[in-house]
Amino acid sequence: MLELYQVRKHFGGLRAVDDVSFTVDAGCIKGVIGPNGAGKSTLFNLIACNIPLSSGTIRFDNREIQRLKPYQTAELGFARTFQNIKLFADMSVLECVMVGAHSKGRAGFLAGMLPLPQHRREEAAIRRKSMECLEFLGIADLAESPAEALAFGQQRAVELARALAAEPRLLLLDEPAAGLNIYETAELGRLIKTIREQGVTVLLVEHDMSLVMDICDEIVVLSSGRKLAEDIPSRIQHNAEVIAIYLGEDYEPAR
Ligand code: ADP
Ligand code: MG
Repeated sequence: MLELYQVRKHFGGLRAVDDVSFTVDAGCIKGVIGPNGAGKSTLFNLIACNIPLSSGTIRFDNREIQRLKPYQTAELGFARTFQNIKLFADMSVLECVMVGAHSKGRAGFLAGMLPLPQHRREEAAIRRKSMECLEFLGIADLAESPAEALAFGQQRAVELARALAAEPRLLLLDEPAAGLNIYETAELGRLIKTIREQGVTVLLVEHDMSLVMDICDEIVVLSSGRKLAEDIPSRIQHNAEVIAIYLGEDYEPAR
């Protein structure tokens, strides 16, 4: 579904992403792990076309996408959450999620404000869809709350709801468990598995190794911008280089 070929991003002299190649099969959950500064978020920014790459190609459904604009990758069915939560100030939870749904809607956000019958219908459908996403994440009761006033874990859930409201084919999650407690993290793991069962392909950047090892089908390990390893979780956990550079000698493999 997604194919990165020798993808490179330089910031001046820094090779943030350095000739990284891998593929993501449709319907899988693929993890991207590695130390801070390894290039994980930069890689997501490249895939979503938020920043231009220095060289290499990215293909989605066999079509080169690296020169697209971010809104065009949204139209292809990409949705993402950010390492640093980005919710809209002065919006309710429901409104934040509706913006996500609008990123795919045909009429667009402004047209939704026009008093034409077809736009009103689309607006109602988007509202329904957005409420469904809030219900799926167990936060429907927060729909009318100001998004900024929420607890951190709830803001993470709103971000995920906003991404899901776009009905994505490819979901990019950048450290979704950061700041969550163990119960919230376990729930997040169940949610991501359910999302995948509904046919969404997931790319997951995460430091919580119990979550990563539990839900990922395959893992790519980045270090200093380069791909250090790519394998199934049970083998990544025993990879001596990955242990030395990232997991640590004390790491106890999950079962
Ligand atoms: P990770 O998400 O794996 O922690 P990042 O992709 O955020 O790593 O960063 C990779 C490297 O690129 C880091 O050294 C970071 O400082 C650098 N970097 C990221 N974004 C920029 C930028 N816009 N300009 C300059 N350097 C950047
Ligand atoms: Mg990052």
